[in-house]
Amino acid sequence: MAIANAHSDSRSQAGLAHARRSPRRLRTDRLYPVFQPIVRLPTRSIAAFEVLARWDDEKLGKVPPVCFIPIIEKAGLIAEFTSHIIRSACAKARHWSGEFRLAFNISPLQFQGERLPEQIQEAVSASGFPLSRVQLEITESAVIADIDCARKSIERLKALGVQVVLDDFGTGFSSLTRLQALPFDKIKIDGSFVRSMGSSRESRKIVSAIVGLGQSLGMPIVAEGVETQAQLRMLQYFGCTFGQGYLFSKPLDAEAVPGLIRLWGEQAEDPSPLDLSCNQRLAQLQAIYASAPIALCFVDRNQRVVSANRRYAQMMDMELEQIGGRRIEEVIPQGDSGVAADLAAAIAGESSAPREWLMPDRRHVGLATVATARDENNEIVGLLVTLVDITGYGGRR
Ligand code: C2E
Ligand code: CA
Ligand code: CA
Repeated sequence: MAIANAHSDSRSQAGLAHARRSPRRLRTDRLYPVFQPIVRLPTRSIAAFEVLARWDDEKLGKVPPVCFIPIIEKAGLIAEFTSHIIRSACAKARHWSGEFRLAFNISPLQFQGERLPEQIQEAVSASGFPLSRVQLEITESAVIADIDCARKSIERLKALGVQVVLDDFGTGFSSLTRLQALPFDKIKIDGSFVRSMGSSRESRKIVSAIVGLGQSLGMPIVAEGVETQAQLRMLQYFGCTFGQGYLFSKPLDAEAVPGLIRLWGEQAEDPSPLDLSCNQRLAQLQAIYASAPIALCFVDRNQRVVSANRRYAQMMDMELEQIGGRRIEEVIPQGDSGVAADLAAAIAGESSAPREWLMPDRRHVGLATVATARDENNEIVGLLVTLVDITGYGGRR
């Protein structure tokens, strides 16, 4: 069977025509798997390898899967192709040390087929690789058309003992509530969101929302396409569990994998991983905020008070409930024009020295500091006003 780019050039048409003329057999000698590690983010230990197909063509050289898979699908050979990739990957991986999983991509076309569970079972069992260490990646586009039917197919696959992962999440416009009905073991965020996190606040919000969603549904999140340390830092900050991408490793030929395993070591799944979720972090910060012995007030970019702690309300001689939503100049001591200047400077990203505020009771003196609060991409999202009572420590009286 000839393989060519189905979209880009005239070779594609020749390739397709040839595929149609060919007897319906797949030439497997030039078709082989490569392996890309999926790592646990806090420890960087290997959790799995995604198996990616490669075609080494006599004339065209290395042809990427996006070019040849559509041709294989059109030729009606996708089941044979998947079995070949699974058999050859499992046959190689069964000799490697470690408890890693092997993750296989399942074409949406094949996912709809009745015989998929038997085909997977046959291909994996033939190699002696345990089914319990197999995971199947199914794209969002394959499941959104008919959720009920997708749920049944996923359940039949899970009955084999394999894990089922939702791939390319975020690209298919599926509603989160509909996806909740599907018993996926993990969710993979599409690489396009991960790559644009540095430049787009929207992408950061989407990634952090997906990670939060996974946490609340008990589904670990895999971020694919991780290329930079900055992306890795953000993902860890959001509490993402797994990562995959060129930052860790490109897809490797089978021969290179045992060396990588030796180098990185392997680690059994941690039964009680540290809770680094946003919820956990939020609870922590709220506890600090509420019980801090100093007064704290958080202001948004429009200089309106988002929240203040009880100590702040006390020092301002106000009820806590009266403070939220007010403009900051209404909840600071009156008559000090320097304060407004400090706030404006802080919003512009400039720092200013701590300033003494005479409290509304005109007896106490506070030392006020205005600090900028920044998001995971270092953009200013608001201001934190802190106030310490320094009466009796040299403050004005
Ligand atoms: P996918 O499942 O989303 O796989 C991830 C793709 O992103 C792979 O491309 C991988 O090499 C690439 N990648 C990984 N890390 C990075 C990174 O940091 N930066 C960038 N720019 N790319 C990265 P690949 O191998 O060309 O595969 C493309 C697609 O072809 C796959 O997308 C999958 O949908 C399909 N595919 C690959 N192998 C198979 C297979 O055996 N069966 C089926 N049905 N589909 C396959
Ligand atoms: Ca995949
Ligand atoms: Ca993907």
